[in-house]
Amino acid sequence: SAPFPSDLEIAQAATLHPIVEVAEKSGIDEDRLEPYGKYVAKVVLDETTTAENARKRGAKYVVVTAVTPTPLGEGKTATSVSLAQGMAATGRNAMLTLRQPSMGPTFGIKGGAAGGGYSQIIPMEKLNLHLTGDFHAVTAAHNLLAAMIDNHLHQGNELNIDPRAITWRRVLDVNDRSLRNIVIGLGERMDGVVRESGFDITSASEIMVILSLSTSFENLRERLAKIVIGFNYDGQPVTAADLKADGALSVILQDAINPNLLQTLETTPALIHAGPFGNIATGNSSVVADYVGLEHSGYVITEAGFGADMGAERFFNVKCRVSGLKPDAAVLVVTVRSLKSHSGLYKIVPGKPLPEDMLKESPEDVRAGASNLQKHIDIVRSFGVQPVVAINAFPTDFNSEHEEIRRIAEEAGARVAVHRGVAQGGKGTMELADAVAEACDDVSELNFTYELTDSLETKLEKVATDVYGADGIEVTPAARKQLKLYEELGYGELPVVIAKTHLSISSDASLKGAPTGWTLPVREVRLAAGAGYVYAICGTMRTMPGLSKSPAAERIGFDEDGRMVGLF
Ligand code: ADP
Ligand code: MG
Repeated sequence: SAPFPSDLEIAQAATLHPIVEVAEKSGIDEDRLEPYGKYVAKVVLDETTTAENARKRGAKYVVVTAVTPTPLGEGKTATSVSLAQGMAATGRNAMLTLRQPSMGPTFGIKGGAAGGGYSQIIPMEKLNLHLTGDFHAVTAAHNLLAAMIDNHLHQGNELNIDPRAITWRRVLDVNDRSLRNIVIGLGERMDGVVRESGFDITSASEIMVILSLSTSFENLRERLAKIVIGFNYDGQPVTAADLKADGALSVILQDAINPNLLQTLETTPALIHAGPFGNIATGNSSVVADYVGLEHSGYVITEAGFGADMGAERFFNVKCRVSGLKPDAAVLVVTVRSLKSHSGLYKIVPGKPLPEDMLKESPEDVRAGASNLQKHIDIVRSFGVQPVVAINAFPTDFNSEHEEIRRIAEEAGARVAVHRGVAQGGKGTMELADAVAEACDDVSELNFTYELTDSLETKLEKVATDVYGADGIEVTPAARKQLKLYEELGYGELPVVIAKTHLSISSDASLKGAPTGWTLPVREVRLAAGAGYVYAICGTMRTMPGLSKSPAAERIGFDEDGRMVGLF
């Protein structure tokens, strides 16, 4: 048979519909549309964009999460796109809300950020590159604040800022390891104050999380004002408002707050908005895009990064708490390769092909990794939400292996469906669409893991024990001091985000399945006062990726016919 075309080839062969038509079909008023070319438009927020309006129509809200992934990813984005197309294929009205991919990794590791095969967002070249400039706006706002901090030091430091206690760094949407740690202000007296600093990737900017968690433009402005950039010599926090920077930042972000409307290969509307990092931030797309989606669709399908222990936990405990929305169902993506990897029999090396033995037919190996799927089903249920297990079919899978996953899910009492959305598009995802629609008709609640009035340490402990299944947490003396400080400063009622590896439910990436008998080590705790949470560092967390020996950038370009190549 002919070789399967690449994602880019499929996307380039697709028929794009004018975005004005896509919007019109969704009932989005033309007055609210700000086209960026023919196939992308911003949907401008207005006074109707509220949680109340979003809930009023009774549209269903579905979150897509996954088992603990292999380093290759198990297809949450691909499944989200497939499911939205499957909803349309079964006569339902659906809209996607997804994160905007970061440009850094686009030129780093090869990996689809727009779905895959016949389940993609188009135009994928725009999606994976500048789109409407939101990431650039976040970069500019972030770096303006950084420049204002250093200028403040240079101009006499009226706020008494301790240069060694500045936590606000600079950002760039390029994977550049050599900028992780830098010295700034070198040169002559007029060239600024010398201090150490560094760059993070734009998606790791607190402003990116603010963009994703803001419930309105006014709320964005309030959050920007609350950003803590560091501490003064008396140990008191210094905010963006203290530096009189918040007004300028909000001006830069004026357009970025509006979600971007694109379409799938089957013309399903997709709102692409914000792209906070999955490891130290929430990893979810924007609240306002979900509001707009629920106003204009019967089913809104959104993705939460990494496995259910990470992205979905934060989706429920942080994003839903902020948005006031309650999901009606959770889709739990699982693959044959993920459960085989949880058997502990194989080692997957990022950037290398799968071990050949893993591709042999073996329902036994799938069964040997069942505990991971069972645990994630339990995690989703712990929030009061019904999981639908979605088996994302790969060309290398065997039916016997799908049947084994089906049995594991059914033994746990969960709905389950195989989907072939990547190979077939929406018509390969109809069974899943029906299962999800059915699950949405069941009553679901939303139980948070902790109360905001719990102490910060209790919140961390409850996530570790009740969600991850740890025995407890082990807080270093330094981290305990930070927790105490944040509580004294009035940040004790913020929710928490735990930054740990996504490759295990535990904090040790090498532990597969559903690890027990372990303790979560809390090394350091940081404050994201504008975004509105406190985050605990439980492992080594990179906030500026590097490029590999052979980055994708070496293969991206244009061919003789002027066609873009190499972009996945
Ligand atoms: P996630 O969102 O969970 O990280 P993605 O949807 O981005 O995962 O998929 C990860 C990678 O696997 C992408 O390169 C995607 O194109 C590929 N992929 C996903 N599902 C399939 C499938 N069913 N068949 C082949 N490739 C797939
Ligand atoms: Mg994804």
